[in-house]
Amino acid sequence: MQLSSEEKERYSRQILIDKIGEKGQEKLKHSSALIIGAGGLGNPVSMYLVASGLGKIGLIDADVVSVSNLGRQILYTTKDVGKKKVFLVQERLNKLNPNVDFDIYEERLSNLNASEIFLKYDVVVDATDNFETRYLINRTTIKTGKPLFIGAVGRFTGQVMSILPGKTACYNCIFPEKSPEIIHSMTDNNRSMGILGSLAGTIGSIVSTEVIKFFVGTGSKYFNKLLIYDALDNNFSILSIERDPRCKICGDE
Ligand SMILES: [Zn+2]
Repeated sequence: MQLSSEEKERYSRQILIDKIGEKGQEKLKHSSALIIGAGGLGNPVSMYLVASGLGKIGLIDADVVSVSNLGRQILYTTKDVGKKKVFLVQERLNKLNPNVDFDIYEERLSNLNASEIFLKYDVVVDATDNFETRYLINRTTIKTGKPLFIGAVGRFTGQVMSILPGKTACYNCIFPEKSPEIIHSMTDNNRSMGILGSLAGTIGSIVSTEVIKFFVGTGSKYFNKLLIYDALDNNFSILSIERDPRCKICGDE
């Protein structure tokens, strides 16, 4: 289906870019992403993907808004405290761009529901702060063959990594899964270290840009790469990484 005249006007500044054009914009319209997490990263990722004209977004999160979220989760207001995040995101982003279809999952991702949900979308975005979920997402994208875009933030540092299952390094190749107890304490540590609110915007914006580039055909820069952004020094470093053939999740053995 071609773009309507309203869509051509709405996306005109993107369409003007020669690497996107009407063709790239149409590709975006026919693409979909599942965003896991409606928090500090999930907010900017979903806002930019909706504004950019992605066709369909799935959003999974079981949490309600708390006061301590408001320092970085910029889709919510003080009056929203106690309300379910996924419904607020849907309501607000539908007003931003009613052309985008929304699927809402008011539940936690688990071994039981992950594969079935992932298979409904073209790509998956990990916008969580939880390592149990991060390893589950990585395993499930390898199993279902879905490209994965990961954003992570803590204190003044952010990371971005993109994964093409079976072709580029997966999360487990670089950070091999530990015992459940260690993973649980990694999540606790991550949550207790604090985060600069605006950093979630920086990293969420980079992740949404990688997803858009993937769909319009200019490619994501962070396959087999790990971006580390140090906000204190305002320094971006990009590490080259490789698939581990002995990786327990994506390896050949
Ligand atoms: Zn791997």
